[in-house]
Amino acid sequence: MYDLAVLGGGVVGCFSALRAAELGLRTILIDERGVFGGASARSAGVFTVQLDTPLDVELTAKSIELVKRYIAGRAWKETGFLQIGKEHALRESMESLEKCGIRYEVLDSEEIADRWPEFVVEPELIGVYTQPDLSVEPKILGRELRGILVEKGVKVIEGVRATKLDVTSSEATAVALSDGLRIAASYFILATGPWTREILHNSQMEVETFLLTCFAYRVNLGQELNIPSFSDEYLHTYWRPWGATLVGGRYDAEFAETPDISDAQPPSRSLRLALKFLLRRLKTPSPPELVEYMRGPCTFTGNGMPIFGPIPCLNNAFIIDGLGGYGLMRGPALGYLAVDAIVLNRELDKYSVYSPLRAFRWNKKMLL
Ligand SMILES: Cc1cc2nc3c(=O)[nH]c(=O)nc-3n(C[C@H](O)[C@H](O)[C@H](O)COP(=O)(O)OP(=O)(O)OC[C@H]3O[C@@H](n4cnc5c(N)ncnc54)[C@H](O)[C@@H]3O)c2cc1C
Repeated sequence: MYDLAVLGGGVVGCFSALRAAELGLRTILIDERGVFGGASARSAGVFTVQLDTPLDVELTAKSIELVKRYIAGRAWKETGFLQIGKEHALRESMESLEKCGIRYEVLDSEEIADRWPEFVVEPELIGVYTQPDLSVEPKILGRELRGILVEKGVKVIEGVRATKLDVTSSEATAVALSDGLRIAASYFILATGPWTREILHNSQMEVETFLLTCFAYRVNLGQELNIPSFSDEYLHTYWRPWGATLVGGRYDAEFAETPDISDAQPPSRSLRLALKFLLRRLKTPSPPELVEYMRGPCTFTGNGMPIFGPIPCLNNAFIIDGLGGYGLMRGPALGYLAVDAIVLNRELDKYSVYSPLRAFRWNKKMLL
């Protein structure tokens, strides 16, 4: 019997397991495809504190602290982040930074060009610059996390699917696996991201989320640029530097019925526009050459907020889902805090807006 069973080894599940191991809990992590087998490895790797709500700013700030504390520097770089746009479009995120006490600089187009001559910014736009932001290589992050978990004694089970939770009227007792085994634990964390709906459905519960397939690209510029990661609220693109490459794309996505982790190429229009808008914003040393594309599933809720809290009616099971296109940067904090909440009974009042209650429905069979 384990103290904690974590279902799903994406960024969320890994940081839950890490926290649990740190607290000395007997922990098992189960991932159908292997650690970082889902959206996390396919993400663009941008970590920025420039988000619209104070809660999200705080979560990313905490995630940055956790990544820097636990993960070797080869997986991340402190690049800072420049958000470019019209002043009114950036106001909300500046207010959130202020509320969280995070310092930022407001730069006009000339100041941006003075500091980073590669940027071409129209005079009517401004840039908001923050410093703690990271450029993260998700695949390296996944490998590092896996190694740390094994080293800390977490039992990592890969290639086996969690099919359903066995539940009584007030708690989960075990998780059923595709190989026929059942794993009993005192606590459960459901961190299977875009696949969570399926496990809940098999457990007679439904969660109201929807899926989008998102796309990102890595382009080689032939030479390293000394620029921050940046987003362009005007041209709807974002990029982060990594060596001589830039990773990012447009804010474009497609509705999907099921999680798409295929290797199919993103729609050609998406790449064409991403490159066109990149070249409008940045003077590159040579034309960007496409070296990698990413395609992956993101789960969204109706109001765009994550689902984070105890699974309704179950005292010992927690769900973290609905992280949308900003889950890599908020996932470490949410995964870590979930363990504190469920095992150490830490207050969740602050996160009541993320309550799972708003997104859950039960099948009649479970209510009988
Ligand atoms: C193209 C793209 C670009 C993105 N860019 C960014 C970005 O720059 N910054 C950012 O913050 N976010 C970004 N995101 C979003 C981010 O990737 C996700 O929000 C985040 O990875 C979600 O993490 P997760 O742990 O919830 O889910 P996942 O990483 O999907 O993890 C779920 C895990 O559960 C496993 N699993 C599934 N079903 C089962 C089962 N039945 N039993 C056992 N295991 C199972 C899967 O194999 C997977 O490893 C991007 C996403 C995409 C697709």
